[in-house]
Parts: sequence; C-alpha cells; structure tokens
Amino acid sequence: MSVISKGFLDELRSRLRLSDIIGGRIAVTRAGREFKACCPFHGEKTPSFTINDEKEFYHCFGCGAHGDHIGFLMQHDSAPFMEVVETLAAQAGMDVPKPTAQEREKFDRQDQYFKIMDTAAKFFTAQLFEPKNKDVLDYLKGRDLTDETIAAFRLGYAPDDGQAIRKILKSKGYNDHDLVELCLTKRSTRGTEDYGFFRDRVMFPVTDKKGRVIAFGGRVLPDHIRPPQANSSYTPAKYMNSSETPLFHKGRTVYNMSNARQASLNGEKIVVAEGYADVIALAQAGFNGSVAPLGTALTENQIELLWNMIPSREVDEIKEPYLCFDGDNAGQRAAIRAMERILPILRPGVSARFAFMPDGQDPDDLIRGQGVTAMQSVLDKAIPLHDMIWRNLTHGKDFTRPESRAALSHAIESVTLPIADRTIQNAYRQMLKDKFYAHFRGQKSNGYKKRNDSPKVQLIRPSAGNELPARLILGMLIQSPNLFESHEDGLMGFSCANQSLDLLRQHVISILVDKQGITHDELKSALHEEGINGDMIASLQRDMRIHAPYVFQEDAQSAVNEGLQELLRRACGDARRA
Ligand SMILES: [Zn+2]
Repeated sequence: MSVISKGFLDELRSRLRLSDIIGGRIAVTRAGREFKACCPFHGEKTPSFTINDEKEFYHCFGCGAHGDHIGFLMQHDSAPFMEVVETLAAQAGMDVPKPTAQEREKFDRQDQYFKIMDTAAKFFTAQLFEPKNKDVLDYLKGRDLTDETIAAFRLGYAPDDGQAIRKILKSKGYNDHDLVELCLTKRSTRGTEDYGFFRDRVMFPVTDKKGRVIAFGGRVLPDHIRPPQANSSYTPAKYMNSSETPLFHKGRTVYNMSNARQASLNGEKIVVAEGYADVIALAQAGFNGSVAPLGTALTENQIELLWNMIPSREVDEIKEPYLCFDGDNAGQRAAIRAMERILPILRPGVSARFAFMPDGQDPDDLIRGQGVTAMQSVLDKAIPLHDMIWRNLTHGKDFTRPESRAALSHAIESVTLPIADRTIQNAYRQMLKDKFYAHFRGQKSNGYKKRNDSPKVQLIRPSAGNELPARLILGMLIQSPNLFESHEDGLMGFSCANQSLDLLRQHVISILVDKQGITHDELKSALHEEGINGDMIASLQRDMRIHAPYVFQEDAQSAVNEGLQELLRRACGDARRA
C-alpha cells in the first residue's frame, strides 16, 4: 500500500512524458510510435528496451524489466518510492499531498505486518535446516526439489512446538494481537497461551505481486515422519492456509504471483495448476509462469488477475492463461466450473486454454515420472475456450434424433447467453453454430454414429463463382419453411461462399432448428429481428421468379421438393469440388 493516492500518481504520470524521464538518464531514439534504447538494467549492444508513452510503460525484451516513471527511477537511481515521487512532483509542478494521520498510521501498521510475516518466513526456513528436522528436508529432496528451488520458494518447516513461533516473534517486540491478526497464532479456547496456527507442517510462503510474504500454506508431513499422535483417530487436513488477514485476500491472490508475473513479461506462458507442489515442480522444470489458486477453485478476481499479469503487446495477441485440470471426472467438472466463471467476464483480447492431465496425475507426478516434455505436450494439446464449450455440450452425447439436435442448437444459445460482452457473445454463438452445421453435414439423422471426441471440423465453402443454387435454396426455404423438415440433412450440410449470404443461411437454419412449424411470415419477421434486410429476401424472390417459378405455383409441392433436392446436390457438389 502506498500513502499517495492513485489519482495523484495518475496525474503525475500524465503530466510527464515517460520518454523524457528515461531520456534524461539514458540515450533514447524514436522508433515509430515508441522509443528504443539499450537497456540500462542488463548489458546489451542492440536495443531491446522499448518505451511506450501512450501506455506509460517501458519494457525490456532482453531482461524483462518493466515499469512506469516511478519504477524506472526507483530502479535506475536506486531511490526509494517517496523520494522518486517527490522528484517527479517537483518536475511536474505538483505538491505531494501530505498523508493524514490516519493514512500514515495505516501505512505504518501495514509495514509492520510485512516485517512480521517476513520474520516468520525466515524462522520457518531456519527450522527446515535444523539438524533435528533433517527428515523433513530429506522428504522435500526426496520429491526431487533442488536446493535452489527450496531457497527460491522460501520453503520452511513449522515445528510441532506451538510456542516456538510465538516466542521468537515476541522476542523481537511484536505483540500477540498482531500475531493473531496475521493468522500466525491462535487464541487458546482453554484459557492458556496463544499457540502457533501451523504446527508440524511444511511451509509455503505466499507472496504478493511485489514478492512480500502475505500468508502461508502448510502441508502435513507424510505419516512416516510424523510423530505418533496421542489421538490416533485424528487425521489432519493435508493442506491448510492462512485465513483472511489485513494483508491476505485469498480470492485476490494466486500462489507464485510475483515470479509468474515477471516470467510473463518475459514472454512465458501463465500456467495455472492446482496446488503449491505443482507450481514448484513446474517452475523447477522451467515453466516459470506457473501459479495456483489458494485452496479454492479459481475466482473471477483471480482470473482477472491472471489476465492482468500478461502484458499487452499486440492488438491481435490474446491473453490466454493455460488452466490445467485432472483428466478424471472431478477434473472435468472443475474445468466446466472454470469455463462458467470465465464466460460472463470475457472481453475482447482475453480468453483461456484448457489442458487436461493424463488420468490420475498432477503436474508434479507427471514431471517427476515422465519429464518436462510430457508436461510440454499436455500444454501443447490445450484446447481454446470455444472448443471447451463445444466439448462440454457434445462430449459422450448422442445426437441421432432430431429432437436432440434441436436441443443442442438451443443449448448453444443458452451457454453463450452469460457472455456479457455482446460482440464476444455473437462471435462465440456464430462459431458454435458453424461447428454445429459442419458436425452434422451429410449425416443421416438416424444413421449418425456417436462420436466421443470433438472432431476437427471445417465448413467446406462452395466456389464463389456460382452462388445461384445457394440463393435459390435459401429463397425456397424462406418461402416454404416446412421444407426444412424433409430436407434437414441436406440443409445442415450446405454453406455459402458469399459472406452475407452465409450469414443469412446461419440465421435461417438456426431459427428453423429452434422453431418447428414456423410460417413464412413468422420467419421473415424473426429474420428482421436478427437484423436481416428485407431487400435481401426480395432479391432472392426475384431470382426464384426467373429460375424456379414453380415455387409460386399452387399444387407444385413435388416439383419444389425435387427442385430443392437437385439444388442441394449442386450446391454441395460444388463445395466438394472446390
Ligand atoms: Zn534489460
């Protein structure tokens, strides 16, 4: 937390051009809309350090250095935050607001809390290396963790003695109230002294985006090194986390956030695993952008956090964290829940990929058993969000009967409904409907074989040259919607090369699938509601008057049926040859 308001800092940044601030320290040259320089933070001869005035940040593609005006001066001049703010404010002609006594106090308390948490983390680490706790360290090394990894993640051990942590922190002048507040100790229900919240556990410090310790996760030791419990029926929870504290909000934090953020700035993937051990195994294997939610399923806030961790470089680049799930049923359900959380908050430029682990294995098992390449191939096979939706709608289901196909079409509407962003909602609906038509193209309703995978399907586009058959087909269908029922299979399988014609086709088909027995007038007004221009329908009618006049004759039902059949043959035949 800073004592200076965000509004003040925003104003400060907007008054000073970042390239001027950086240009005051190092040589910068203009490159298009950005500026370039040789990075002052790592030795280089060709510039990979870029400055974007519009977005108010600098980024080095060589070492990942990234920040704004304040961050640059703090790092370049090795100056503390407040000093930099004062320097910049003087340059911008602004007065640094004096914090109120209340703000000052809050800031000081927060500062104190960070010190306490850091001291606790150091204590747990020191305990891990005590000779008497050697079996705990051996256990970690037995799980293939290197010394570097143990140090980088600041792993530790909370001793069984519930007074140990309290004694050490009190000896440094910290009080019982703060320790309870930070969830390091608990009040005793028996009127005795407070005691350690974590006892006899491997400790995983949880840090904020600046790398400061804000909470802990504690894993129970395996049975062979746990001292026998007095009460043998007691089975401790495998993992426990700090409760919410003034520093720690579970739903707004992910494990390994600061390292992953840095990795992401360096262009690495964000990989979301289930637990601490997975993240550490992934990071040790070189997947530095790995994170995990903290004992819960991913929350909306955490998903936003993941998107924010990925820098925006190009307009067409999609921010796409990789979410890993177990291959079993519970994993499938978790993936569906994550999908349902993401859809409502989807917006242009962000999405997610879904990766499924081989049955019964988590990333930790997989990497230890089969190495980095096995994990890499799981990530390579990750499916995009729209495939995940399709898979969820169709996986293991039977669409032999028209009713079930109609239900699927309906489900496509409802699954995309929660997407609040209308542009994205339409794009997803369109894409799923295309998959729908392509999936059933040429398949006889009753002869349809059940498929368990989500097949790679692509609409075959007819050659652009002759769109008359397609125009006549659509015209006939709009004129006599009841034709749909008897020609459904053929109609599901055709598409149009012309974009606006194909859009019309999609609308017509989706309305007809949904509303059986609809009349010509009802269909026309439904199309009108979807924004289809009446001129287009009129032009199809003109074509029919010339090329298929029988459509408008009385008692010409069989001619119409034969005509439509022939047109479908030509439209689909053209498509296959094209
Ligand atoms: Zn650099």
